[in-house]
Amino acid sequence: MTPNFLAALSFAAYKHRDQRRKDVAKTPYINHPINVANILLNEAGITDEIVLIAAILHDTVEDTETSFEEIEQQFGAQVKSVVAEVTDDKSLPQAERKQAQIEHAGRLSDRAKLLKLADKTANLRDMINATPDGWSAERINDYLEWEKAVVDQLRGHHAKLESLFDHAYDKGKANHDRN
Ligand code: ZN
Repeated sequence: MTPNFLAALSFAAYKHRDQRRKDVAKTPYINHPINVANILLNEAGITDEIVLIAAILHDTVEDTETSFEEIEQQFGAQVKSVVAEVTDDKSLPQAERKQAQIEHAGRLSDRAKLLKLADKTANLRDMINATPDGWSAERINDYLEWEKAVVDQLRGHHAKLESLFDHAYDKGKANHDRN
C-alpha cells in the first residue's frame, strides 16, 4: 500500500459516503471501487499504481460532486486521464450511454482497458451475488449481455482479466437458465 493509494481510498470513501449499491443489503458504494482494485491487484497481478488509483477513483466524477480538476490536482494528470476515459457522459440518455460504452471500448488506452475489464467483472459478480432489488430475470440477462458486448471489444489485451470476466458471465448465465 502506497501513500497515494491510501489517499485515493480516503478521498473516494468520503466522496461516496452517502451512496449505497442497489442490492437488498444496500452495500456501501465504496465496496465497488475497492473490489475493482482488488481484482486488478490480487486476482490479475496488476501492480501499475496509476491503474490501481484510477480504479479506486473511477466513479467519483460520474457519481459524486467531484471534478476532473480535483482528481488531477491531488493524483496527477495520468490518473485523471484514465478516470476520464472510463467516465460516462451523463448528458446522454441511458440507452445511448450504454451503446457509447460498446463503441468506445476498443479505443481506450491500455490502462483504461484493464480498469474497464475489472469493473465489468466486479459488476457481474454483484449482479449474481447481490442482485439489485426488484430486477427481473429478463433485465438481469440484458445487463449480462450488454456487459459482455463491452468486454468483447476489449479482448486480446489481458488474458487473466478476460477469463475472470468470462467465469462470472458463465455463472450468471447458468443462474439465468435455472430460472
Ligand atoms: Zn464501476
